[in-house]
Amino acid sequence: MLRITELKLPINHPEETLAAAIRNRLRISPRDLVRYTVARRAHDARDKMDIHFVYSIDVTVKNEAAVLARFRRDRDVGPTPDTGYRFVAKAPADYAGPRPVVVGAGPCGLFAGLILAQMGFRPIILDRGKVVRERTKDTWGLWRRSELNPESNVQFGEGGAGTFSDGKLWSQIKDPRHLGRKVLTEFVKAGAPPEILTEAHPHIGTFRLVTMVESMRATVEALGGEYRFGHRVDDLLIDTAADGSRRVAGLRLQTGETMATGPVVLALGHSARDTFHMLHERGVFLEAKPFSIGVRIEHPQSWIDEARFGPCAGHPDLGAAAYSLSHHCRNERTVYSFCMCPGGTVVAATSEPGRVATNGMSQYSRNERNANSGIVVGIDPGRDYPGGPLAGIALQREWETRAFEAGGGGYKAPAQRLGDFLAGRPSTKLGSVIPSYRPGVHLTDLATCLPDFAVTAMREALVAFGREIPGYDHPDAVMTGVETRTSSPVRITRGDDFQSVNTAGLYPAGEGAGYAGGILSAAVDGIKIAEAVARELMGQRVAA
Ligand code: FAD
Repeated sequence: MLRITELKLPINHPEETLAAAIRNRLRISPRDLVRYTVARRAHDARDKMDIHFVYSIDVTVKNEAAVLARFRRDRDVGPTPDTGYRFVAKAPADYAGPRPVVVGAGPCGLFAGLILAQMGFRPIILDRGKVVRERTKDTWGLWRRSELNPESNVQFGEGGAGTFSDGKLWSQIKDPRHLGRKVLTEFVKAGAPPEILTEAHPHIGTFRLVTMVESMRATVEALGGEYRFGHRVDDLLIDTAADGSRRVAGLRLQTGETMATGPVVLALGHSARDTFHMLHERGVFLEAKPFSIGVRIEHPQSWIDEARFGPCAGHPDLGAAAYSLSHHCRNERTVYSFCMCPGGTVVAATSEPGRVATNGMSQYSRNERNANSGIVVGIDPGRDYPGGPLAGIALQREWETRAFEAGGGGYKAPAQRLGDFLAGRPSTKLGSVIPSYRPGVHLTDLATCLPDFAVTAMREALVAFGREIPGYDHPDAVMTGVETRTSSPVRITRGDDFQSVNTAGLYPAGEGAGYAGGILSAAVDGIKIAEAVARELMGQRVAA
């Protein structure tokens, strides 16, 4: 099979023009085109008067060798890459070694657990939160009734942080082994729409994620794996040898139970602040890492559609328009859009009492009234939170507490019209844009919940964004704060063998360990970690 990339067709092209375009591109007759499938489809809307689809197509032709030879200097025609996944190890049928333990049932832990189960290692997956259906009720308890369950919420529980999300499934990680393809294939088996395998920017929305997570649990259990919910890891048992080298030997759980363990995967997510403290106390090497803070901004989706798609706004094949913005400011800060959710809602994403943090989610249809996105400023330990590995957590807590107070309590979020934010005055009434955040907003001055440098940078950037997307800096756009959980504030540093640099047997993974940012990259990291664990269990050498 051969692959053609960069095949461009207008968005309204009839189905049959694709076959004609393939034949023209390869200069072959209809009889020589045996069959074709779409490998990937993106739309290019840089020129909104000429929006077109860009395809990658896998094609079977008669006499493939001759066609490939004809195009050997053409970088957009070549053999179809092999994207199949192959296991790096398999447990023997009589495997009696230790069962690997995975802490965290977010995308990283789910995939670490799934791959270990598929390799025959019968993993035990621990999560502090509840099964996804129970967790959904608790999460809505915060959004509807202002009742936070600190152990079962947007951040904690089966499915992890991405469960109540837009379910965007793309990533910019380097992926030479096509592990992302394995993730998407497993998601489709678990009930995701098959088009996620071909769309350049696939998303699945929150409802489907819930059933997919359940289906993946059933698969892991059928393969001999085991889940234990309501099992928060509160402590590590570490053996220290005479030469000072350390190895994890067990876990102490919130239930009071102590587990002796072999390898332990730590797929904690970025909000396990208590667990990061515990790891630090136990001497596991951690370091502070950069992250970003800011607010969520909302505009009517129709404004974004018009700005991005012009006369094609509303076209069913294009869906709700997304955007990605970045601006380098005079004060040397960079402001950028983060986790943009077309046609979605702003959600309360705190996991700690007395604090407010925002994020965004959407349904598969992406047909809510507003587009929302984080507008955040990059910060780093060197200049913004010196003081040790946990200083970033202290900083997050400080601004989240201020946001809770500025919101007037009850987990309402502080909010402000963009026009008032630029003018430096508190908002007292909304304009044409109605905020979607639940349990509600309190109009105020967001400058009291953000560092001064961030306010200065955001004021400059929002105006600049208005030049890129007309209407972006409309005075009625609504900003809700604060967005602090953009990525982990710590890294649990690992070596080339994927184990903690100073505690053998401990495999830090995913977003919380600082090795992923998003559902797909966390899941891919989970696969890599499962492979490293399997190799350790089979006594093979591990290489990064
Ligand atoms: P997590 O998903 O955070 O999972 C960590 C798990 O560990 C949790 O289930 C938690 O309960 C458990 N845990 C923590 N501490 C302990 C402990 N001590 N003992 C036992 N269990 C523990 N990303 C995208 O790519 N696309 C999106 O559209 C998107 N939207 C998002 C929307 C929202 C509202 C949020 C909050 C995040 C969104 N993200 C999105 C980010 C994405 O969810 C994360 O990048 C991803 O979930 C990280 O995966 P993870 O497995 O590393 O960690």
